[in-house]
Amino acid sequence: MDSMKAYIEKNRDRFFEELFSLLRIPSISSQDSSRPDMMRCAERLTELLKEAGADSAGIYPTDGHPVVFGEKIVDPALPTVLVYGHYDVQPVDPVELWKSDPFEPEIRDGAIYARGANDDKGQLFMHIKAFEYLVRENRLKHNVKFIFEGEEEIGSPSLASWASMHRDMLAADIILVSDTTMLSETVPSINCGMRGLSYSEITVTGPDKDLHSGHYGGAIANPINILCDMISSLIDKDGKITVRGFYDDVVELSEEDRAKLARAPFDEEEYRKFLNIDEVKGEAGYSTLERTGIRPCLDVNGIWGGYTGEGAKTVIPSSAHAKISMRLVPNQDHEKIAELFEKHIKAIAPSCVKVDVRHHHGGNGFLIPISSPAYQAASRAMTDVYGIEPVPSRGGGSIPILADLQKILGIDPLLMGFGLERDTIHSPNESYLLKQFFAGMESIALFYEYYKGNK
Ligand SMILES: [Zn+2]
Repeated sequence: MDSMKAYIEKNRDRFFEELFSLLRIPSISSQDSSRPDMMRCAERLTELLKEAGADSAGIYPTDGHPVVFGEKIVDPALPTVLVYGHYDVQPVDPVELWKSDPFEPEIRDGAIYARGANDDKGQLFMHIKAFEYLVRENRLKHNVKFIFEGEEEIGSPSLASWASMHRDMLAADIILVSDTTMLSETVPSINCGMRGLSYSEITVTGPDKDLHSGHYGGAIANPINILCDMISSLIDKDGKITVRGFYDDVVELSEEDRAKLARAPFDEEEYRKFLNIDEVKGEAGYSTLERTGIRPCLDVNGIWGGYTGEGAKTVIPSSAHAKISMRLVPNQDHEKIAELFEKHIKAIAPSCVKVDVRHHHGGNGFLIPISSPAYQAASRAMTDVYGIEPVPSRGGGSIPILADLQKILGIDPLLMGFGLERDTIHSPNESYLLKQFFAGMESIALFYEYYKGNK
């Protein structure tokens, strides 16, 4: 579609200005102090939607951060695309590792650098601009609805109930999402499945106060030592998670499906080099791509307790804490896993300490069929833009709310993500390659050309 290319060329500077106005707003959903910024970001998004051609766009309160919804109804008889994205971002710590201000976007080496440049402001912005192009060039043959939430990075606690109350408003034929990565710059892929998530926090408490390690050391349980023992027992030497019942609902893939997955190009040496590690590690009997795509995993996300300041302080801490995430595969239920996890932790806790498990958030994984018209349309669009047919992939991340929306609205999500590993989302120096930013816009515009509804 040359005219989309031309449209990008003509409007390039304005696109940057508009995107940067979003990126400058520190919409960190996990920090309470960000509330005014969350609102500012939601307001800016409604402006952008209206300017792009939406009939209406507004801010809807939820129990948490607001939802932005906008739409253009061309003709109720036409297929409807529901675009999902999120305007909240991850915190920026450790901020000293950023080469430029995370909230002052900068273009260098062919990429935009800022928190949210990719995840997900940069990616949702491509949808607004593809839509703008179709509206202004009189090419829009769909109804388009946009739903942008402000709580994806904290597990979307409010969106499911909000969506249940606005079913009619959200009615559509497909949920279109760009919030994932492609396999590589030269190997486009479409994500047809995502892992789910269960996230818990463990607190181990010993004495009711911090104690002198000289006076009491060796005589009582140290909560940090105990917590470390418990955590290290959660994964065995084969990389299997030891939580009782954890694998009960995991569906083993057929050899044929595993062979299909193995066709995705993957260079382990490059992978190791990129991460600066000497060796990969994971569940025995599975490849790296399988470990992040079709197998569940358990990771400590943070662990703390005792004295961590400068110099030494001899102390037996009163308590120790750890945050633990479990990535789940489709068919595993996050609530059931949270229960199994808590039961297991309580069962292995020694009686010399008190152990508390708090469940933070979770969501189920999902899979969409490659044969679906929406997948096919996306595949054609990306083939046109990249010159190669995209590989169906299964992503390792989680967008738990998509499984919920799929259930509540009865619509499949389609994940056309244009991020790359190199973008280091959630880390310092998050970026988004300009090439991907523009190829994404083109692919999305073409998706609308090819997608004629689900029949
Ligand atoms: Zn995201």
